[in-house]
Amino acid sequence: MSVRVRFAPSPTGLMHVGNARTAIICWLFAQRHKGWMLLRIDDTDLERSKDELTEAIKRDLTWLGIGWDDYVHQKHRMARYTDVIEKLKADGRLYACYETSEELELKRKVMLGRKMAPVYDRASLSLTPEQKAKYEAEGRKPHWRFKLEHRPIVWNDLIRGEVKFDGALMSDPVLIREDGSPLYHLCSVIDDIDYKITHVVRGEDHVSNTASHIQMFEAIEGKVPHFAHLPLISDAEGGKLSKRLGSLGLQDLRDIEGFEPQTIISLMGRLGTSDPIEPFYDVQEIAKTFDFDKFGRGTPKFDAEELVRLNAKIIHATPFRAVKDRLSAMVGGAAVDEGFWEAVRPNIERLRDFKDWWTVAKGPVSIVVAPEDREFITKVASLLPAGEFSKETWNAWLTAIKSNTDRKGKALFMPIRKALTGMEHGPELDALLPLIGRERALERLQEAA
Ligand code: GLU
Repeated sequence: MSVRVRFAPSPTGLMHVGNARTAIICWLFAQRHKGWMLLRIDDTDLERSKDELTEAIKRDLTWLGIGWDDYVHQKHRMARYTDVIEKLKADGRLYACYETSEELELKRKVMLGRKMAPVYDRASLSLTPEQKAKYEAEGRKPHWRFKLEHRPIVWNDLIRGEVKFDGALMSDPVLIREDGSPLYHLCSVIDDIDYKITHVVRGEDHVSNTASHIQMFEAIEGKVPHFAHLPLISDAEGGKLSKRLGSLGLQDLRDIEGFEPQTIISLMGRLGTSDPIEPFYDVQEIAKTFDFDKFGRGTPKFDAEELVRLNAKIIHATPFRAVKDRLSAMVGGAAVDEGFWEAVRPNIERLRDFKDWWTVAKGPVSIVVAPEDREFITKVASLLPAGEFSKETWNAWLTAIKSNTDRKGKALFMPIRKALTGMEHGPELDALLPLIGRERALERLQEAA
């Protein structure tokens, strides 16, 4: 069977790590099986859905390297939904209801007060045509519910194993609002049928929806896809992942935190699985290891610190050609050479750190050295090894400094570092010296002295 999946975001907010994870897992699964993927924009809620958010979602996915084979907006499929609605009405699976939200709320409270599950009592199902006409004359508009069959609903979830619901213990879901617009549930099922989706991958907050969706699939067409419900992720302390952790929007992870897309994919593709979390520079490699069987049912903890560690490892595996243009753009368009990248790469956690190295090496730096260190700096300048600088230069220089001055430890290192870089800390001097070069190093030392 060829695998067909869909990622179905609602454009009512920016992508955050939670829905990015769903997209990543959906995509990894499709990649693993050389499958097909639909990007479906769930925008039936016309008031809350925004075109600029759709664009932002597409940008975020593209940045992650997640492509799609087809693309559709639910708001453009209303005619098709209307056809199905007519059929379901004719089959008696959709029925008009006239309760106001206040009336429904009251019913709920009464049932809860009696310690009963607040299942909708189907009062509207037995309304006579006269009673309906009376409501309509009062100006009430119906909403429509899907009549569930009162029987067990069972599926074999790819992550949760066997899941059972009882249709008799569930409220008939509302599928059409008072203004006639269809709700996500119905549209989603119709789309999954029309696009021949074989696997529905989504968060476990949809598990109870799935129970009623299965009956909708059967009522419309009969063929039910496979389901994989991902456990929701929590923050590092096990709390609910929320806006509180501010920077969890994908845009922020990219633009503010400066993470690489592979970092996000490496973490999200492995979080909550029995495989270790490892950096994958080539994300096709992680796809090869993907299997729903490896996912546990527990709540995985998302630790933003893990992203920092992974990102550094991804950077350390990044070849020059992949970042050449970004590096150059970062330093005002200057030509960056491969040697420079290779020298600083082990010291970089996020690509933007490159700029600091560049400045330290090429300047401008402002050198300030304490008056009591000036004589020492004059001395070390005279001991600077001759010839082109290499990784060995620092050691040779250090040996000469130690045998010609009485300084050691911080008193030796700090003035030199400050005289060369203008900073109290930074990259190791052995890596730094060849990047600064002899001429510039001498200039800086002389300026400091
Ligand atoms: N738009 C829904 C959501 O973002 C889609 C759920 C689904 O995948 O069916 O929760």
